Amino acid sequence: MCGIFGVYGQPNAAAITHLGLYSLQHRGQESAGIVSVDGNHIARGSRKMGLVSEGLSAQEMESMPGVLAIGHTRYSTAGSSTLDNAQPVLARFKGGHVALAHNGNITNATEIRDDLEEAGSIFASTMDSEVVVHRLARSRSTEPEQMLAEALDGVEGAYCLVVIIGETLLAARDPHGFRPLVIGTLGDGYVVASETCALDIVGATLMREVMPGEIVAMDSRGLRSSQVFPQSKPLARCVFEHVYFARPDSYVFSGSVDRARRALGRQLAREQPAPTADLVFAVPDSSNAAALGYAEESRLPLELALIRNHYIGRTFIQPTQSGRDAKVKVKYNAVKEVLVGKSVVMVDDSIVRGTTTRGLVSLIRAAGAREVHMRVSSPPITGPCYYGIDTPNREELIAHTHTLEGIAKQIGVDSLGYLSLQGMLHAVPGGPQGFCHACFSGDYPTAAPLVDLMRAGKDC
Ligand code: AMP
Repeated sequence: MCGIFGVYGQPNAAAITHLGLYSLQHRGQESAGIVSVDGNHIARGSRKMGLVSEGLSAQEMESMPGVLAIGHTRYSTAGSSTLDNAQPVLARFKGGHVALAHNGNITNATEIRDDLEEAGSIFASTMDSEVVVHRLARSRSTEPEQMLAEALDGVEGAYCLVVIIGETLLAARDPHGFRPLVIGTLGDGYVVASETCALDIVGATLMREVMPGEIVAMDSRGLRSSQVFPQSKPLARCVFEHVYFARPDSYVFSGSVDRARRALGRQLAREQPAPTADLVFAVPDSSNAAALGYAEESRLPLELALIRNHYIGRTFIQPTQSGRDAKVKVKYNAVKEVLVGKSVVMVDDSIVRGTTTRGLVSLIRAAGAREVHMRVSSPPITGPCYYGIDTPNREELIAHTHTLEGIAKQIGVDSLGYLSLQGMLHAVPGGPQGFCHACFSGDYPTAAPLVDLMRAGKDC
């Protein structure tokens, strides 16, 4: 998954982008990058591996002047975590410079790339996003939004893009609207971001969402919108943004993530009560709001039973102690005072492989809990995501390989209850229609990718 950000019409656009990326760090921690364009039409780029705070400095931003900038935070699978695959992509072609940052996964990237390579294109990365850059360079149009519309014609799957062509900032969202993208105003300028929390940090005011199938252009001529792709495709907003991915202080798809998660928790309590339980606690941080909702609805006290260490760097070397719980112990610890002798409800937003969950349950038991009842504020994940969430292959998903009883046994709980698909879709703002729930239901809105998303170079 990734976070994208763009600024037009503010001095020090790179510094504003730098700040915005801090608020999109949760969307990707592998690499971060910024491209800016100055008053002399010179484009400068900086891309670094690691966190925004590790790779990009405020000092460096001072050497990237200009009123136009875009930025990116990236998460990828281990194999493709290289600087070559960091974004924004910056390329020069006959018409000048083009820079692009992408959130989502293009499902027919392999076919498009094969065609381009057949025609002589040379690629610098394994990213699906690079096919759009090549297509941009081939466009014969002179209007930036027209060039982007041409480049995106026939591109399938999920994309939210911020693009710089010349002195124009462009924002585009695929016709299904898989991923969130918003526009805000900042003084006389504009800001584009994956989530509204990134508008908040730079002091921008939310204007609206970029609509599915829309391209928005921002430059010295002002803001122009074109609906280049008629909304013939069914709306397929990713429900997992509300369940897990987005920050609770954001509005995604025009709905509050905090309200969505609380509603998911309340619905979970109605569908999956735990009559013998003494208390509820969350697996921090992504399930805090859902646990609040569960506690509210079930009238059980909400306790802080798990403490998460926020200072574990990504480069932290795993301790030599063996055992499957070692990794979990580094990140979490249990509060014995809260747990001793208690029957507890542990609320989490999802179970993917089941490995973290199993480790957490054993921590909770070791701290003295009498009974552990696991409640999950989304349905079982049974299939991979082709649209940008980093879920593993089907075979690694515990809900694909195990029954409900099998999962409960595997993770070591006394009872296990998931939220139903309909319960989830009715709980999220703007539901139940218009959401992609393929990872839960197997109902994929597009054809599956040819090669499983060019696995080696899986983008975000
Ligand atoms: P596991 O027990 O290994 O299935 O991990 C479950 C935990 O992973 C839950 O706490 C989720 O909040 C979290 N989670 C869900 N989806 C993802 C994802 N795409 N990337 C990283 N963590 C995730």
